[in-house]
Amino acid sequence: MPTSVELAAMRRAIIISASGLGATSPNPAVGCVILDAAGRTVGEGYHLRKGAAHAEVNALAAAGTRAAGGTAVVTLEPCNHEGLTPACHQALLDAKIVRVLIAVMDPTSRGEGGAARLRQAGVDVQTRVLEKEALAVLGPWHASLSRQRPVLHLLIQADAAGNPIAPASEALAEIELQRHAYDLVISVDGSTEEGRTGSHGRAFSVPARSVPDEPGDALAALAEAGARTALLVGPSKLGERLLSAALVDRFTLLQPVPEPSQATTAASPLFPDGFVLSRITRAGGQLVVSAERR
Ligand SMILES: [Zn+2]
Repeated sequence: MPTSVELAAMRRAIIISASGLGATSPNPAVGCVILDAAGRTVGEGYHLRKGAAHAEVNALAAAGTRAAGGTAVVTLEPCNHEGLTPACHQALLDAKIVRVLIAVMDPTSRGEGGAARLRQAGVDVQTRVLEKEALAVLGPWHASLSRQRPVLHLLIQADAAGNPIAPASEALAEIELQRHAYDLVISVDGSTEEGRTGSHGRAFSVPARSVPDEPGDALAALAEAGARTALLVGPSKLGERLLSAALVDRFTLLQPVPEPSQATTAASPLFPDGFVLSRITRAGGQLVVSAERR
């Protein structure tokens, strides 16, 4: 059983892992905290971008020799493959880590990943520690792997009658709040932003007209760009087509706060079938409604 200190360390690892969102794809955003033998935090690290050092390596570098005899708390199963960087399970063994807590198992490891290698070497390995909370960050990456396509979020502004319109100021603020967590933002009139590029130096924000209209072709183009997540800002033909092809995973709708008593109902024809409400809040004069595909 993880101790309360270890659980707090895992939550810290989950929180800092989000620093890599929007820059690590197609790799996951991972965080790691190192506790020394007495349970004190001696290092933390995260994966900054694709090609940069993994979270475990950064955390071990910060901890130095204080990691010996200690515990590594990491949001994803450590890797066991030599890629652009050495395998993390080996780095943990080299640092003389004796216990490893993992939140999410790597679905590609199939029981032969870093966890198995660490156990073989005599390390005490605990898995699925705060897994659900870690999926707050790793969820879209995980879903993208299992669905074998980028995860798509659609954001649409509607008028009081439920018709899609250009984003109001509250919608623009919501987009500004959310967009850095995505690999790509696709908007109707979006232009490639100067001085801001996502992972691999590709354009971070692109106009919808630069993405193929056909859903399959659009997904292929996004996957080819290395994107695991994309935010589509509607209304656009592309968004409609992806929605009707059941390829939109999350939906955010902004709609003006209705009158407390109305003779006619402002219908919400935009709210699609197959979604469940996940978060509703109010921003200025708008209701902000988020829904997830069931
Ligand atoms: Zn690694």
